[in-house]
Amino acid sequence: MQYDVIIIGGSYAGLAAGMPLARARRQVLVIDAGQRRNRFAQHSHGFLTQDGTEAAAIAAKGRAQLLAYDSVRWLEGKASNAERTENGFRVQVEGMAPQEARRLVLATGVVDLLPDVPGLAERWGRHVFHCPYCHGYELNQGQIGVLATSPMSVHQALLLPDWGATTLFLNGVFEPDDEQLAQLKARGVRLERSRIERIAGELELLMQDGRVLHLTGLFTAPRLELASPIAAMLGCEFEEGPFGRTIKTDHMKASTVPGVYACGDAARAGGSLPLAVGDGTMAGVAAHQSLIFRGH
Ligand code: FAD
Ligand code: MG
Repeated sequence: MQYDVIIIGGSYAGLAAGMPLARARRQVLVIDAGQRRNRFAQHSHGFLTQDGTEAAAIAAKGRAQLLAYDSVRWLEGKASNAERTENGFRVQVEGMAPQEARRLVLATGVVDLLPDVPGLAERWGRHVFHCPYCHGYELNQGQIGVLATSPMSVHQALLLPDWGATTLFLNGVFEPDDEQLAQLKARGVRLERSRIERIAGELELLMQDGRVLHLTGLFTAPRLELASPIAAMLGCEFEEGPFGRTIKTDHMKASTVPGVYACGDAARAGGSLPLAVGDGTMAGVAAHQSLIFRGH
């Protein structure tokens, strides 16, 4: 069968995109590989009505509410390829028959490329974070570290004193200029130039000079990589940001390829659950209306 819309990525953005389409009784297929970006953190914060709820529970409830609509199908698997057909798109899913639809929504998210410090990856989402709005409050004004990944880390270090006494670990990545040093001083940020050898215990930083520093939380800004190459395969344009590229979209979340919409972290710099849900809703509405006003 040919679906009206295939949504690739069935997390917050993709589920939200499905909702207006389901409510318009359109035939929707959601293809999802089950690798939410926030699966490393137990609780999610800052999403109105869901503050402090388990991240998995929010996704599961969204999925149950979407699948309650008869016209929505779910396919567990990884889309490996998508191409244009005469009147839409064909999507290949590993180990399954190809699926076809008139429109595509890409909600495939991003992957965090973490700094290569031994012990850091195991603590990602539990003691090591990137977003202070998501995880800063719970640190209760404790000792906070910022691990530099680029000169942009000055920005993160300047924000964090609102959440606790902050130390910027330069880790040999860069040296702040005079203006940055003055800004950091004005915000009371301490500087640490000895490198981190590894992280142990809950969050003990074993420094190259032999000291052991205990922190309550460590923040860092990972490089981001699009989780799926499908946007590139379809010829979508991208926007380069300081942490990685995102799929270029207009205010309706249409990509630069007609019939292809993109939402969530894959299509905005600096995402969150509420932003993914807002953008997903817009993409779903736009894909629906394009079936009527550009109906081919
Ligand atoms: P994702 O949730 O990443 O979902 C993308 C989905 O697409 C995945 O299920 C993936 O498997 C699927 N997919 C990808 N490629 C394919 C493919 N080829 N075929 C099929 N499926 C595919 N935000 C908050 O608002 N509050 C928080 O407290 C919070 N905490 C966070 C904690 C951590 C540790 C991290 C890393 C992030 C956190 N975030 C938080 C950010 C939040 O996780 C993202 O903004 C949000 O998940 C974006 O939703 P999304 O639907 O765009 O992408
Ligand atoms: Mg996404």
